[in-house]
Amino acid sequence: MSVSLARVTSVSPEETCALARRLGAALVPGDVLLLSGDIGAGKTHFARCLIQSLLTMPEDVPSPTFTLVQTYDTRAGELWHADLYRLSDPDQCAELGLTDAFETAICLVEWPDRLADLAPAEALTLEFSAGPEDTERRIILTGDPKRWAHLADRVPA
Ligand code: ADP
Ligand code: MG
Repeated sequence: MSVSLARVTSVSPEETCALARRLGAALVPGDVLLLSGDIGAGKTHFARCLIQSLLTMPEDVPSPTFTLVQTYDTRAGELWHADLYRLSDPDQCAELGLTDAFETAICLVEWPDRLADLAPAEALTLEFSAGPEDTERRIILTGDPKRWAHLADRVPA
């Protein structure tokens, strides 16, 4: 069952970063976060903050726009960051190793609509959208409340 779990308003990049760090601290391998929303909505910013908070050594976290995926060794285990904007065929996900990573790693996936029916049913979706102010963003979290109970106390009420 997938329901709207939380609606967050972030008024600044730093506030989005803080949310990313809070959620990141509770993630375990097998957790898949689908980051949807228009260009500039804040998907990569969120992913970068989350990844940096889990790295043991400082490392650049580039947008995977051209490479499609970037992988990291983090203190929570292996983490995959994907940007599927340029994905031409969902079957490419198996070739990239992403479909296996859904089972074994923490995965953050931008442009998850490109996955079509390969998107894991258990994933948590974060839908980013612009707010009325320049630095305002809405983030709607949707997923199975039981599957994502470990994140419940990490989202502002
Ligand atoms: P996307 O990956 O969704 O295309 P990016 O994360 O690359 O978007 O870019 C988002 C841009 O919006 C960044 O330059 C970021 O600093 C800016 N921004 C402004 N306000 C916010 C906010 N509240 N949360 C996230 N990003 C914000
Ligand atoms: Mg991006």
